Amino acid sequence: MKQLTILLGTHNRDKVREIREIMSSMPSVRILSADNVPNVPDVVEDGDTIEANAIKKATEIANATGYLTLSDDTGLFVDALDGAPGVMAARFAGEDCTYRDNRLKMLDVMRGRENRSARFQTVVALAAPEELVGTATGSVEGRITTEERGENGFGYDAVFEAVETGKTFGEMSEADKHDISHRGRAFRNIIPLIDKLIHQ
Ligand code: IMP
Repeated sequence: MKQLTILLGTHNRDKVREIREIMSSMPSVRILSADNVPNVPDVVEDGDTIEANAIKKATEIANATGYLTLSDDTGLFVDALDGAPGVMAARFAGEDCTYRDNRLKMLDVMRGRENRSARFQTVVALAAPEELVGTATGSVEGRITTEERGENGFGYDAVFEAVETGKTFGEMSEADKHDISHRGRAFRNIIPLIDKLIHQ
């Protein structure tokens, strides 16, 4: 069986740990983080969609480093806000805002609204130098809460209640969250594509 080395196009240690865990079902895959590899470019996420951003990150990093590269991009889509913040989730409260600023802005703009449905969506892209191998998606349905609940996680976790558990991601353990999370699902959904590369 072929050994495959895959570079994760991120310096985010939490993401690297989580993805290593998901990929541990594939012993013939070696996972490298962007911290282990020189010349990983800082890609500007200026696409109109999470798919465009994920593809841009994976292809630019694969081209610069020569590694088979996996990159992801996530958006939070709130129905009552016509899909906002969407692809702009990281900058909802402004350019240099914190995760907390974003959560407080979300609670503020959602105050008094009845329809609180929302979903996280992730696109994962797998690229080799000069070639996009493919993409996979994952999503999770939820509701925006009326106040912060839970101390775990990051980003919007404390204000996003998953329909499947009735708990916010901030109230769930990391393992329970990623069983149902957008990112967990997207990375599990790209495994068949990686499997195909191993066996071709
Ligand atoms: P990224 O594309 O993974 O960097 O995600 C963009 C933004 O979406 C982040 O800055 C967070 O605000 C939010 N986000 C992504 N994933 C999660 C999650 O699992 N929980 C809460 N917020 C998230």
